[in-house]
Amino acid sequence: MIVKEHRDEILSYLEDSSNFSAGRCEKVFIPENEQEALEVVNLCNSQKMPLTVSGGGTGTVGGRIPTEGSVISVERLNRIIDINGNRAILESGAIVNNFLHEAEKINKFYPPFPTERNAFIGGNASTNASGEYSFRFGATRKYVLKIRMITGGGKIVEIPRGKFFADEKGVIETDFASFEIPFYQTPLIKCSAGYFSAKGMDLIDLVIGSEGTLGVITRVEAFLIDKLPDRFIMIFFLPSEEKMFEFLSDAKKEFMRDMYTLEFFDHASLFFLRNDFPEIPPDTCAFYIESTNTTELMERWLNLSEMYNARDVWVGSEQKTYQRLIDFRHRLPENINAYFRKLKITKISLDIAVPENNFRELVSFYRKFSKESGIQTVLFGHIGENHLHFNLFPADEKEKGIAKQIYLSCVEKALSLGGTIAAEHGIGKIKYPYLRMMYGDKGIKDMIRIKKVFDPDGLMGRDTLFPSSLLFEK
Ligand SMILES: Cc1cc2nc3c(=O)[nH]c(=O)nc-3n(C[C@H](O)[C@H](O)[C@H](O)COP(=O)(O)OP(=O)(O)OC[C@H]3O[C@@H](n4cnc5c(N)ncnc54)[C@H](O)[C@@H]3O)c2cc1C
Repeated sequence: MIVKEHRDEILSYLEDSSNFSAGRCEKVFIPENEQEALEVVNLCNSQKMPLTVSGGGTGTVGGRIPTEGSVISVERLNRIIDINGNRAILESGAIVNNFLHEAEKINKFYPPFPTERNAFIGGNASTNASGEYSFRFGATRKYVLKIRMITGGGKIVEIPRGKFFADEKGVIETDFASFEIPFYQTPLIKCSAGYFSAKGMDLIDLVIGSEGTLGVITRVEAFLIDKLPDRFIMIFFLPSEEKMFEFLSDAKKEFMRDMYTLEFFDHASLFFLRNDFPEIPPDTCAFYIESTNTTELMERWLNLSEMYNARDVWVGSEQKTYQRLIDFRHRLPENINAYFRKLKITKISLDIAVPENNFRELVSFYRKFSKESGIQTVLFGHIGENHLHFNLFPADEKEKGIAKQIYLSCVEKALSLGGTIAAEHGIGKIKYPYLRMMYGDKGIKDMIRIKKVFDPDGLMGRDTLFPSSLLFEK
């Protein structure tokens, strides 16, 4: 096992893709196998030392950044143990990109991978990640068949899907734990906010999305689907946002069965792609779709684009053009982050989703702030799932204060519309106040009660989901 103690070696573990900067850590343990990982957990238990699990470090909410104690990094537990038919068994540090390549070799596909393919499979399970194909296939939760985990208390447990369910009283009983599920119901939309809870739920769904607060996931058994059929991508550049909801509705009505991805980029986001793609028509916003590749479908999409007076339509149907349009989509979050990092401006980023009926109202609400606040904003993302990332870039302290108020107003609005404050990125160390608004003090207490079933001394993932001070309140 590698143990890192020097400041220079540890620094990279105090970062992820968030702006969370309060990371502190004594040691980083890098076990070579599960037995060594168990020794780390046992050591921390015996010394009452807090322990934070580190995956690929691509998270956006500071989950893997420790605030005290030590880090256990699963980077050397990176084997794809078996991949066969529709199942793959992976160590939790397996890199998603490698997994996708291995699946491809046997004509299979793992649908819920996030845009950032350097993430680890254990990180994906811990955050219930979703990506460009979640519009069609759903989030990670649907593709995890079994989890093997070292609980915070130091037990190795296997949690297969379909074995441990909440009974009529909401109690889940296993040979290693028995507890009542939280009183709240997780909204039935794209959601990655706190412990999952639903009537009759499966225990594995509580662990998925628990952000390293219950234990160290060492293995994930994943479900694979058959390789996707041949597809094309189209990007439609529309002259304004005026008809975006009509376009959205027609796209869903006409093409639902054949679509894999349905995304949106507002005019401000296209600015961040212009250097890489100078041919983007000026003064436009864009819809990005991926579809089964048939001539008939392509023609029907082109007809739709004519009805909406698209200024331009880009088509990616052969490998080179297809890959170029994939890059178009992937570059945006990277370019935005790089641009504002250079200017030392901290992005304030919303990850809200709401039920379909209320989506239009939420977007109008965002747009009011884009127009009236004077703060630079960008709106883009998974429009097909009623989930757009609304990002604000406050230029100074005064704007930062205003942006935080706007964030709060948007959270209140989303909750009043039956939405979630975190659709795919999780809560980490920066969204607790909003998680509390979503589920109330009772919901937070329920989560803490459950955490202690797995992690009696509250050592795992301190300050993730809720402040550690709450763990010890009477
Ligand atoms: C450019 C960019 C694009 C992105 N696009 C998407 C996207 O499309 N969809 C999406 O959902 N997310 C996206 N993300 C966010 C990120 O990729 C995901 O949240 C991803 O699942 C994190 O995985 P990771 O291995 O990097 O985890 P980390 O960042 O290392 O950790 C995330 C959390 O999981 C916990 N954790 C990690 N491994 C384990 C383990 N083995 N056992 C227990 N807990 C563990 C950590 O403690 C932490 O709380 C994006 C990020 C970037 C930078």
